[in-house]
Amino acid sequence: MTAKPTDTVITVRSPANGQIIDSVPQMDAATVVAVIGELRVAQAGWADLSPRARVTHLLRYRDWLLDNEFQLAEMLQRETGKPWAEANLEIPYIVDAINYYARTAPGLLADRTPPRHGMIAATKRQLLIQRPYPVVGVITPWNFPLGLSLLDAVPALLAGAAVVVKPSEFTPLTVAAAVAGWKQVGAPRVLECVIGAGETGSAVVANVDYIQFTGSTSTGKAIAHAAAERLIPCGLELGGKDAMIVLDDADVARAANAAVWGAMANSGQMCTSVERVYVEAGVYEEFIGRVVERLKALRVGEDDQQFRYDVGPLATDAQLAIVCEHVDDALARGAEALVGGVRVEGSGFFQPTLLVDVDHTMLCMQRETFGPMLPVMKVQDEDEAVRLANDSDYGLSATVFSGNRARAERIARRLEAGAVNINDVFGNLFTLSLPQGGWKQSGMGHRNGADAVLKYSRPQAIVSARVLPQREVTWYPYTAIRGAIVHRVGRLLGARDLLRRFS
Ligand code: NAD
Repeated sequence: MTAKPTDTVITVRSPANGQIIDSVPQMDAATVVAVIGELRVAQAGWADLSPRARVTHLLRYRDWLLDNEFQLAEMLQRETGKPWAEANLEIPYIVDAINYYARTAPGLLADRTPPRHGMIAATKRQLLIQRPYPVVGVITPWNFPLGLSLLDAVPALLAGAAVVVKPSEFTPLTVAAAVAGWKQVGAPRVLECVIGAGETGSAVVANVDYIQFTGSTSTGKAIAHAAAERLIPCGLELGGKDAMIVLDDADVARAANAAVWGAMANSGQMCTSVERVYVEAGVYEEFIGRVVERLKALRVGEDDQQFRYDVGPLATDAQLAIVCEHVDDALARGAEALVGGVRVEGSGFFQPTLLVDVDHTMLCMQRETFGPMLPVMKVQDEDEAVRLANDSDYGLSATVFSGNRARAERIARRLEAGAVNINDVFGNLFTLSLPQGGWKQSGMGHRNGADAVLKYSRPQAIVSARVLPQREVTWYPYTAIRGAIVHRVGRLLGARDLLRRFS
């Protein structure tokens, strides 16, 4: 039912019905090297353009995405099996990101003259410029193939880098089509897509100057090792086990809605899915009752373009197996499934599932499940909720529901996560001016935020003389001896105090 990379070909199948959608050639390392070589040549001219000129190309590309939105969403739905509503989310998200980065990039990339510090610097002209990494590799997973690929490619392009994207071998088609669109708008050839599985990805890591990876923690660690060997920087956006805390002063109806949406969106296959919930005892029964009602109303199935279903299939056989393992483990250790708890027989779908009577020895509370499953624990107070929420290897994001924002913010400051949403889920995915990145095993670095474009460039300091530049002598022995003599004389004359005060 899922993509099967062979030596030369990747067969892409629909996760919803197993039918073959397409077969595409898998690129070997030599092809990746050649693609990156061509990108390197094209990048020089791209970096020479002003940031505003690069923005013009990106805005033209944005318009191409909008013009081709329907075809792209259709392809995305076929290769991911997402419900139509969810397949339509990725392009608006990217369009919004292009608008944001297009507006902010020129200012961020402008040359600067930082304030001078110290007596020697006082004689210097200090110029700080940003120069792009020549080729950035963007490696992405199957859960949001297009959104995640372009979300990282766009700021890198604006920074002046060339970009090679390697989408997941399970969902390569939409990304390949979107990258083809870059060529159609007449932009310089600085965006390419290479198709293949892990070996193709390794070849990317071995040949680019910066690697931006989104995927599992285990692959992320392998990439971090490979990047360290080459001393190239890497950004890692990895797995999560996001906690939601519902306090006794929360709007319980809203919290229950959010828990169901947070756990079931994209069939639970979001890095920021709500993967576990801690509810204060006073509102536990009401919360559970509302979640049961909501979950039972969800429609599970293979969607067309009529918005008929809410929850799609798991994207791969391996993912389905993980969900089955976590639910079975919980049930075997005494948990109860109040809703669901089983796969839809003979298909790649799993019933939306609510687990209660769970504890932290169970896989469903410790490991990333990445499926339509919601385990809920009753807690006595907020301290217990915070302790359990932090009892995780992961730290991507978290959610707190409370009627008192000051109380919720106090809890947020105690949570070990890169982002905390209060009285909402996924809100931080849309606040592009804030950083988005995981703590602990959830990642290294971040995307978005004020420095999102800058991270794909290197600062270069250019220093020249301000005062009488033509008279300065830089012949080494003379300069060093002169410096030592000036220092000695200065000390004799009591210049130490001046140094302490003014340097
Ligand atoms: P994965 O790690 O299996 O694969 C991700 C990508 O890495 C794929 O393109 C794959 O071909 C490539 N790859 C595999 N081995 C490689 C290697 N040795 N060198 C280079 N590339 C290699 O992850 P997945 O199963 O596709 O995605 C699911 C994971 O992604 C989940 O853990 C999820 O939490 C995570 N994710 C994180 C974020 C985030 O922003 N933090 C967003 C979405 C998904």
